[in-house]
Amino acid sequence: MNALLVYPRCPDVFWNLKHIMRFMSRKALLPPLGLLTVAAMLPDSWNLKVVDMAVTKLTDEDIGWADMVFISGMYVQGRSVREVIDRCKELGAVTVGGGPLFTVEAESFNDVDHLILGEAEITLEMFLADLAGDGPKHVYSSTEFANIKKTPPPRWDLIDVNNYVCMGVQYSRGCPFGCDFCEVTKLFGHRMRLKSASQLIAEFENLYKAGWIGSVFVVDDNFIGNKAVVKSEILPAMTEWMKQRDYPFYLNTQVSINIADDEELMSMMSQAGFEKVFIGIESTDDQSLQECSKVQNANRDMVGCVKKIQSFGLEVQGGFIVGFDSDKASVFEDMINFIQSSGILTAMVGLLAAPKGTELYNRLASENRLLETSFCEDDEYKVSFVTKMDAEDLETGYKHVLSTIYSPQLYYQRMMTMLKNYKLRKKKIRIRLIALEALCKSIWLIGICGKNRRYFWMPLLYAMFRRPQLLHVTIFASMCGFHYRKIFEELHAKN
Ligand code: SF4
Repeated sequence: MNALLVYPRCPDVFWNLKHIMRFMSRKALLPPLGLLTVAAMLPDSWNLKVVDMAVTKLTDEDIGWADMVFISGMYVQGRSVREVIDRCKELGAVTVGGGPLFTVEAESFNDVDHLILGEAEITLEMFLADLAGDGPKHVYSSTEFANIKKTPPPRWDLIDVNNYVCMGVQYSRGCPFGCDFCEVTKLFGHRMRLKSASQLIAEFENLYKAGWIGSVFVVDDNFIGNKAVVKSEILPAMTEWMKQRDYPFYLNTQVSINIADDEELMSMMSQAGFEKVFIGIESTDDQSLQECSKVQNANRDMVGCVKKIQSFGLEVQGGFIVGFDSDKASVFEDMINFIQSSGILTAMVGLLAAPKGTELYNRLASENRLLETSFCEDDEYKVSFVTKMDAEDLETGYKHVLSTIYSPQLYYQRMMTMLKNYKLRKKKIRIRLIALEALCKSIWLIGICGKNRRYFWMPLLYAMFRRPQLLHVTIFASMCGFHYRKIFEELHAKN
């Protein structure tokens, strides 16, 4: 059996860091971890080929070679997913769809030959059993959650790791919290499911043996969802492995704000090699936080929490949302002030959206407020439901937040705030060739040729002379700032 595994294209968005590729010889941010894990579940006798469309073109020859084309994707890839399916249909290929987009929007993909919904550990196994027996059905789904202690490690041998900026590993699935707009708990449940420490270390070792030295994203939606096990088993094992291998990885992950309550946990994460954590801040307004059940963020000094986390050597990246029913006219300025004073460089601000199946979706549906949208659209500025705030005011305010926080002056200002507060505690930093390439190119492209060059030098010189251990953080932050400005300009030109 020849199986082609296709990861469709992601549109150019704030998340994919497309514009930093010009500073380093890489093609994409992250490899398709889910698809590589699915590859590891397919029979050993099959011939496999992976096409990540962020890295390489999908050709008619690829599709013609395959007995089956497996397609995976997230909501944001919807348009490209549709195009890939249509091409496969034209060429007469058998298609198999799986992953979050197919699971949430299954009824939009009835023309796909086989739909493997939910977690592949369960439904792919059912499909493979039928394939070897009486023939596969159209749809496979399950209400069960998989035991990820049995999940095989991803097949890194199917890609060239040097095409990517960062690698990915997964340690857990699920989240104990219940934010009403979030589809994580719908897809993966509230009960944390964990891999064992030895499983995770084996995945680290595989990556290291594949020649990887550099950033590794622990892709969990909430890495500290089960703090007790993380502290007693996972972090000690990670720290030991990193020490033995001379700290080859820079780790980052996603956590909830209650990390700020646990100094021991922050310290252990820092020692294990974590440098960045992404946290859903969402709103600066307690009423909006209560409205979406983000209770863990409410009634806190959030700026104080962010600064405390930074002081433990963990750069905080933040997710922010505008468009809650409780949002007041001041929400935009409040958000800008929060982002500037906390020194959150990577501030991902979005309009509130209601993915299918979430509590928010159900509430808005019952209030008859959902607007007709399609997963094939990728308009960042368009609201998807009838908002309480006037939609035009909301969209204008949203654009104002983006244009302000990504303006070179404010971005570099908060880079200084972050650098001053950020106390990297890791014992050792490995400087790689790619970082030197990025340094030289960013000096040339931003610091010498760039129209905002006057802002570039202050943080760089500060890091060079006062905090040399933060030089790699500074270079990366400058490149990200460049990307955010470019994406904002492109979005703005489109609208
Ligand atoms: S804390 Fe994050 S992952 Fe957990 S439910 Fe809220 S938004 Fe989702």
